[in-house]
Amino acid sequence: MRGPPLEGMPAGPFGKKRNIEPMTSTEDIRRLLLDLAHDLGDGRHMAIAGEGNVSGKLDDRHFLIKASGARMSTLQPEELVGVDARPLLAVLEGEEDLTDEEIERLLLEVRTDPDALKPSVESLFHAWLLTLPGVRIIGHVHAIAVNQVLCSPRKQDFAVRRVIPDQVVYCGVESVLIPYVDPGFTLARYMAREVEAFRKRTGVLPKTILLENHGVIALGAQHTEVIAALAMAEKAARIFVGAATLGGPIFMDESEVYRIAGRTDEHHRQRMLERHLPQSDHADPAN
Ligand SMILES: [Zn+2]
Repeated sequence: MRGPPLEGMPAGPFGKKRNIEPMTSTEDIRRLLLDLAHDLGDGRHMAIAGEGNVSGKLDDRHFLIKASGARMSTLQPEELVGVDARPLLAVLEGEEDLTDEEIERLLLEVRTDPDALKPSVESLFHAWLLTLPGVRIIGHVHAIAVNQVLCSPRKQDFAVRRVIPDQVVYCGVESVLIPYVDPGFTLARYMAREVEAFRKRTGVLPKTILLENHGVIALGAQHTEVIAALAMAEKAARIFVGAATLGGPIFMDESEVYRIAGRTDEHHRQRMLERHLPQSDHADPAN
């Protein structure tokens, strides 16, 4: 492993600008991803059976991702598979569409250990999201309340408006909303396009990405950020659904949303969270 990456270093093939915490060993990342998967799957019931996945960046070319079909709540070390991101990124950037069989073959080819399990078909979007500056950990779940909204006509409201201040802090001023498309290759291409459009329009990276009729993704430098963003998205969705039954929600004013996003004490809370959020913390992380 190399030493800590310097901010502003030249772009590598996997990652345009490196601006992340000092390198952590593969085993540290593996342990952290196991904690994340167990917390999301078991502690928070956000994924059952083979649903959802987690990934973590190892270096400029490689990442660890959950094996296809593995269960989040009982995820084992060998169910996190090392993957070479470059062939996946090359396919996403290419013009050609791949068949299901070609994608299957590609997923087996990109394993760094030929005896490892097959990585998740969602490796394609993980590979791309992990190229974004500062993004090192990704969590994706099929959470119930979030999906209640994402399977409803109110999904756009949930993506672009905010119901409570902590939703602004942990989920961002707004979220990217991706229409329902075939999971895997098509979804990854859509996601790259929509996230780039969001970044161009807002000047920041999203903290959360909402997938219609499917689920939610959170991305960050730390696994605690990812847990907080997913837990808060689920809490905000429950509030949204409850308020909708009473004729609401009454959303926060845009000016208030931007004020919260810029407030220093909120930044302080985010920093404290990174230091102190315990595993399986069910308490409101704002408190
Ligand atoms: Zn999914």
